[in-house]
Amino acid sequence: MSEPAVTAFIGLGSNLENPREQVTRALEELAAIPQSRLDAVSSLYRSAAIGPEGQPDYINAVARLNTGLSPLQLLDALQTIEDAHGRLREERWGARTLDLDLLLYGGQQIESERLIVPHPEMHRRAFVLTPMAEIAPELAIPGQGEVMALLERCGDLPLARL
Ligand code: ATP
Ligand code: CA
Ligand code: CA
Repeated sequence: MSEPAVTAFIGLGSNLENPREQVTRALEELAAIPQSRLDAVSSLYRSAAIGPEGQPDYINAVARLNTGLSPLQLLDALQTIEDAHGRLREERWGARTLDLDLLLYGGQQIESERLIVPHPEMHRRAFVLTPMAEIAPELAIPGQGEVMALLERCGDLPLARL
């Protein structure tokens, strides 16, 4: 590996074209990202969509990846996988075949044009915090606090675990 390895967390979501299959296949593709090792995967969860109304429910999961890629190289790899799933970039928060968000990259805080880490909404979203709590309950999100405490504070309805 060219750079020291870092622990990154990836949020997965899909609400189109057999979401369960999209997420399962994406996990295999995450495992194949160069210079990276898939270390842990949460269960799959079902959540109601946010954004424009009338969308199908989402299937969500979170994965932990040990990676030697830089943050932007990792974002490129995630967007390549989204593209391979036929993701169209249309309406903001609209339905999609696959969404891969880079939630955390080690303890780093990053703010660039293409990338904000920690993901700016993750600490408020049960569909991120619930799967995250399963694989890293005591992890602190830089600037926000521990995953489990954030989940308890978040007012969202509990998610169904599949
Ligand atoms: P949200 O970010 O609220 O979850 P979204 O996932 O629907 O919304 P997208 O349309 O998938 O948003 O992403 C828009 C852009 O966000 C991407 O092109 C990417 O450059 C940028 N972006 C910034 N920070 C991140 C991050 N941490 N993970 C993924 N994309 C990010
Ligand atoms: Ca997202
Ligand atoms: Ca996204």
